[in-house]
Amino acid sequence: MRHPTDPGRYLMSRSRAPELVQPDDILEFTLDSQSVKPTDVRLYGERVIHGTIYQTRPDVNAVCHHHAPSILPFCISGTELKPVYHLGATLGEKVPFWDARDDFGDTTLIVATPEEGASLARALGANWIVLMRRHGATVAGRTLEELTFRTIYTARNAALQIQAHTLGHVSPLNAAETELAGEYNLRPGPVARAWEYWNVRLDKAEGTWRPKNANLRAKKKSPPKRKTKSRRRG
Ligand SMILES: [Zn+2]
Repeated sequence: MRHPTDPGRYLMSRSRAPELVQPDDILEFTLDSQSVKPTDVRLYGERVIHGTIYQTRPDVNAVCHHHAPSILPFCISGTELKPVYHLGATLGEKVPFWDARDDFGDTTLIVATPEEGASLARALGANWIVLMRRHGATVAGRTLEELTFRTIYTARNAALQIQAHTLGHVSPLNAAETELAGEYNLRPGPVARAWEYWNVRLDKAEGTWRPKNANLRAKKKSPPKRKTKSRRRG
């Protein structure tokens, strides 16, 4: 995500499987994707994707590049990804398709140079998601919460589009529905509700989750000054 107080920088983990990332792994980068502090830890090779989008899109404060299995059939086939249900409307009306071969010929398919990052950011343009041929997707958001919402629901939309296609004709949202539903989904209430849920899932996965009123209930139940019982509880 973009640095919350310095728009000329962004924050990203060192190169590590995302599920393992800890707060100490987060580093600060300039928009040229150079680490602000000298470091010898391994960095993500594709961080230019993030830096170039922050350079070209001042309205974007969070970026997610991913290879979700539900999105990849669209990246491989070139079939257009479209919003097919209400929550998928956060895709936006247009999902551009970027092919590294157009600008660079044969490559590793990894977006690792500033030129490759800039080419991808141009393809994204003013949209919110760009598909990368034979590779994955890059999603943008105005906030981290919006980005998370869009990334999760566009991946689900992709799975649903494929499933619906197996049943027959797919009838996507039209432009007006996409705009109306997209804005409706991103109201503060629905985004906050989803954000709280995802946070709790993360806490549960890390074993740190407790119901908010757990301490209150425990206090009420504990009989005062009965040391043997409270010891057992502890
Ligand atoms: Zn990638």
